[in-house]
Amino acid sequence: GLESNYFLTQRSNLVSIYKPRTKFSHKGTYGHAVIIGGSHGKIGAVQLAGRACLRSGSGLVSMFVPGCGYNALQSSFPEAMILTDTAMDHITEIEIPFTASAIGIGMGLGTFKKTVVAFGEFLQKAKQPLVIDADGINILAKHQEMLKQLPENSILTPHPKELERLIGSWDDDFDKLDKANAFSMKHGVILVLKGANSLIVDGEKGYFNTSGNPGLATAGSGDVLTGIITGFLSQGYNSLEASIFGVYLHGLAADIKASEIGFEALIASDIIENLGKAFV
Ligand code: AMP
Ligand code: MG
Repeated sequence: GLESNYFLTQRSNLVSIYKPRTKFSHKGTYGHAVIIGGSHGKIGAVQLAGRACLRSGSGLVSMFVPGCGYNALQSSFPEAMILTDTAMDHITEIEIPFTASAIGIGMGLGTFKKTVVAFGEFLQKAKQPLVIDADGINILAKHQEMLKQLPENSILTPHPKELERLIGSWDDDFDKLDKANAFSMKHGVILVLKGANSLIVDGEKGYFNTSGNPGLATAGSGDVLTGIITGFLSQGYNSLEASIFGVYLHGLAADIKASEIGFEALIASDIIENLGKAFV
């Protein structure tokens, strides 16, 4: 029944998930994450995800973007390595010349024909769980045959509109949970249903988040979340842990900043800047 299969994520649940850093660790210990996405005018989306990924503790972050993102990222995100597509305006072929420990994909990607093909080919090659957001979800929704190619335990982070495109409409909240869980089970993925009380479902159980505030209803806040979850995956947290922990810290960072400046003025970059305070 609903009582037994749904849980609330509170601070106390996170203590058992958290993996403290050890003295003799080095950046290799915390993985090499890759953030893939961006298109002309939407490089900011991947930049937010990449920065958030690094702030969550990933050892190394590489970005894969169309050529138009190169100068912007190289000059304003010095910690990252930047890989570029051969095309300038949007991604046409995804080549990662090393084994990534975690990959987040979809932010600002666009749904151009060549990008859709590149995304499909990328799924066929991908072996580890992916974090898929935004246009990555929109592509999957429109080309549902690609869902079969998803690496097991991948994480999809739809907002309500993206969810509707992916699983169809629902009658009420119970129906929505049923449909989301059925989808999650069928495709072997974790769904992060974003909203005021984000819910994470893994096909059997659901975890309601308790942090966050309406200040998060702002451009780019979802891109930041994808970066954080990818960052935790790269550090060796499993998909469910990375989702639960990431969603909670994302909300808490926003709560910390909102207590200082209120909801209206909160912007996505503030979540990244305050992530460190949410850990302690
Ligand atoms: P996106 O729509 O992709 O930018 O994602 C928005 C992010 O902000 C998600 O993590 C949502 O859970 C969060 N969010 C949006 N509105 C609210 C709200 N009213 N209260 C708490 N979190 C919210
Ligand atoms: Mg979004």
